[in-house]
Amino acid sequence: MSDRVFNFNPGPATLPLPVISEAQRELHNFKNTGMSILEVSHRAKEYEEVQTETENLLKELLGAPSDYRVLFMGGGASSQFAFIPLNFLTPGAQADYILSGSFAQKAYEEASRIGKVNIAATTKGTNYDRVPALDEIKLSANPAYVHLTSNNTIYGTQWQKFPEFNDTPLVADMSSDILARPIDASKFDLIYAGAQKNLGPAGVTVVLLNPELLAKANTNLPVIFQYGTFVKNNSLYNTPPTFAIYIINLVLKWLKNNGGVPAIAERNKEKAGLIYKTIDNSDGFYKGHAQKDSRSLMNITFRLPSEELETAFAGEAKKAGLVGLKGHRSVGGMRASIYNAMPVEGCKTLAEFMKDFQKKNG
Ligand SMILES: *Cc1c(COP(=O)(O)O)cnc(C)c1O
Repeated sequence: MSDRVFNFNPGPATLPLPVISEAQRELHNFKNTGMSILEVSHRAKEYEEVQTETENLLKELLGAPSDYRVLFMGGGASSQFAFIPLNFLTPGAQADYILSGSFAQKAYEEASRIGKVNIAATTKGTNYDRVPALDEIKLSANPAYVHLTSNNTIYGTQWQKFPEFNDTPLVADMSSDILARPIDASKFDLIYAGAQKNLGPAGVTVVLLNPELLAKANTNLPVIFQYGTFVKNNSLYNTPPTFAIYIINLVLKWLKNNGGVPAIAERNKEKAGLIYKTIDNSDGFYKGHAQKDSRSLMNITFRLPSEELETAFAGEAKKAGLVGLKGHRSVGGMRASIYNAMPVEGCKTLAEFMKDFQKKNG
C-alpha cells in the first residue's frame, strides 16, 4: 500500500496493516449482528467472546501461570502508577522503586503521595543512559513490592536480564515492550502496559495479576480503584473500552499467526540491529544515547552533530515517508520506535536513509 508511511512514533504507534484491514472489513457488520463492534453492548455474547478470547491469547502469548488474571482497565499506564500503591502500599508498608527513566520516576512520585517509598536504584545521574546493574539495586528491609520499567521508551534502554527478589513481589511497567521478547511471566506478580505502543490503540491498559498479590490488596478503597473489582467482574464492572480490546484481539491473532513471541523477538533483534549497526558504523556522525549493554530493541535514541542537522534529518525523513522520528525533549535528537508491528522493511529503509543523509551532510 503505497499511501502508507513508515510510522516511527512512540505511541500511539504503527499497527499491523492486516489488522487495520480486518477491522475495516468487519466494521460495518460485526459477526452478523447487523452492527459495528463499536455499537455492540459490552454485555452481548458477541462482545464477551472477543474479550475472553483476548484474555486467553494474552495469557498464552505471555506464558502466564494459569491462575494469573488478565484485566482490561482505563486511564492509561499512568493510572496504574496510582492504582498499584493504592492497592498494595498499605499503611505502615514501604515500596521500592527502581528509577530507569521518566515513567519510572512518575510512578515513584505518584506512590510517594500514597505511602512510604524507597529508591532502590537510579541511573538519573547519567540522564538514564542505562538500566541499573543488578548489584546496584539496594532493597529496603521488607518492601511490599519492587517496581521497575522493563523498557524506557524515552531514553531507549531496556533490561536485558531482570532482577529476582525471592519472596518480594515484582511489579513491572511493560508498556513499551510487552510481547516483544519471551519473558518468564511467573517471576512477575503484576505486569501492566498501556496498549498504544505494542498491543493496539490508546484507551485500554492491560494488567496481568498474580492472585497471591491480589490477596494482599487494600480493600478499603472506592470499588472502582480496587483490582479485586476488575477480577471479580471479569473487567466488566463498568463499560470497558470495547473497541480498543477488539483491536488488541486482532493484533494478538496476527502475532500468533506470525510465529508468536519467539519469532517476533528474532525479527525485533534483526530490525534494531540494522539501525544500531548504522549508528556504530557512522564514525561518530550518529551518537546513540543508550549505553550498549542497555540498548532497547523497541526505541532507538540517537543524536546528530548539531540541532540544525537534526531538524533537517526529521524534515527530509518525512519527505521520504519516514515519520515520527523526532526524539523526546529530555534526550533531544532522534528516536526510532520500532515496535512489533514495524516491518523489517521500515528499518531497512531508515538505515539506508541514515547512510545517505550522512553521505550528504557528514
Ligand atoms: C507511554 C508510557 C507510559 C504512559 O502511558 P499512558 O498510557 O499515556 O498513561 C508509561 N510507561 C511507559 C513505559 C510508557 O512507555
